[in-house]
Amino acid sequence: MADFQGVDFLHLDELFSEEERLARDSVRAFVSKEFLPRIQQHVRQDGSFPMELVPRIAELGLFGANLTGYGCAEMSNVAYGLVMQELERGDSGLRSFASVQGGLVMYPIHAFGSEVQRQRWLPELVSGRAIGCFGLTEPDFGSHVSGMRTRAVRKGQGWVINGTKRWITNGSLAQLAVIWAQTDEGVRGFLVETERPGFEARDIKGKMSLRASVTSELFLHDVEVPEDSVLPNVTGLRGPLSCLTQARYGIAWGVIGAAMACYDEALRYTQERMVDGGPLAGKQLTQEKLVYMLTEITKAQLLALRVGRLKDEGRLEHVMVSLTKRNNVDVALQIARQARDLLGANGIVDDYCAMRHMVNLETVRTYEGTHDVHMLILGEHITGLRAI
Ligand SMILES: Cc1cc2nc3c(=O)[nH]c(=O)nc-3n(C[C@H](O)[C@H](O)[C@H](O)COP(=O)(O)OP(=O)(O)OC[C@H]3O[C@@H](n4cnc5c(N)ncnc54)[C@H](O)[C@@H]3O)c2cc1C
Repeated sequence: MADFQGVDFLHLDELFSEEERLARDSVRAFVSKEFLPRIQQHVRQDGSFPMELVPRIAELGLFGANLTGYGCAEMSNVAYGLVMQELERGDSGLRSFASVQGGLVMYPIHAFGSEVQRQRWLPELVSGRAIGCFGLTEPDFGSHVSGMRTRAVRKGQGWVINGTKRWITNGSLAQLAVIWAQTDEGVRGFLVETERPGFEARDIKGKMSLRASVTSELFLHDVEVPEDSVLPNVTGLRGPLSCLTQARYGIAWGVIGAAMACYDEALRYTQERMVDGGPLAGKQLTQEKLVYMLTEITKAQLLALRVGRLKDEGRLEHVMVSLTKRNNVDVALQIARQARDLLGANGIVDDYCAMRHMVNLETVRTYEGTHDVHMLILGEHITGLRAI
């Protein structure tokens, strides 16, 4: 198959800097040559990620790529977004791996950690020598994390943490867990080495979505951590929620990659598939679907680019990320479903990417704020009335 060329109906390439195009193109080549040949095997093995690629991902500068110092790539937020797009063109599991490591683990250490914590962890995480996970969701609290039951109490010079976290990406792969827990002072973030006594990670099996990604349940039973494990510069839900804004920003770009992959596959397939004496692409119903895909990808690109530029200018608001994440995931999922449909029976096998992206996007619609929760965030923003 010819190399993936991307989708650029409005010549948006002209709006990217050379650095941004270079970042995108190098990740595109990595995904085509090194990641995609492996994906089928990992999807078939429930919950396995190609860990042998971690040093390559690090070498490309993709962990915490929009952070500064400590060996980070210091990319613009638009370059970072394009990187996420290309990773998710491969698989949402690949983008999730990088999103969690950068947006949910490195970001809180960078933004809220002490200098000692930054020096200790960021060089390890940027190089992929250490893997991190982000423990916020609990079995009974996903959208409404303020109800979390995980609790940390002071003991001597440190803390003791008890609780359960569920649906944690990379939980059993991680050497470091960022654990959010209730304390007498409000919600605090803790840097917990996963080898500490009382910490256990068990993988969740039987996932029909994000199969090439490890998802775990974390059990913390009297896990003792020293005082300098707590992130000193944030208290309350502002801590985890600002991490989520970073990761949701990456998702808003990432899903464009999944949508592009599905559109590209459907376009090529329908041009070659003969039905009723001619190519399937020549039928009106097919063209309606392909035009929908191109239109929605183009609109999603414009949204992502605008929020990216605003983020680079320090003017991005979390509600803008809610709108963009919600819209872009929704249209990517519609595009994946339509692409799967156009492929007919072939659309249900893993020789093609549409169904894999489609089921992955069901997770992406749920995690990092569900589709409806983002609607409620936006509804409150425009009316001043809280309906959540
Ligand atoms: C593969 C995967 C990986 C994940 N990785 C991580 C991770 O690394 N770290 C982490 O902390 N979490 C992670 N999550 C968890 C994810 O963020 C949560 O699943 C998500 O926040 C939704 O929570 P929930 O599953 O409890 O659903 P619920 O909150 O129970 O929501 C169920 C339904 O109810 C709706 N709903 C909820 N509240 C309202 C309301 N007030 N009004 C109307 N409708 C409402 C929702 O929109 C949804 O449709 C992951 C999840 C998955 C599937």
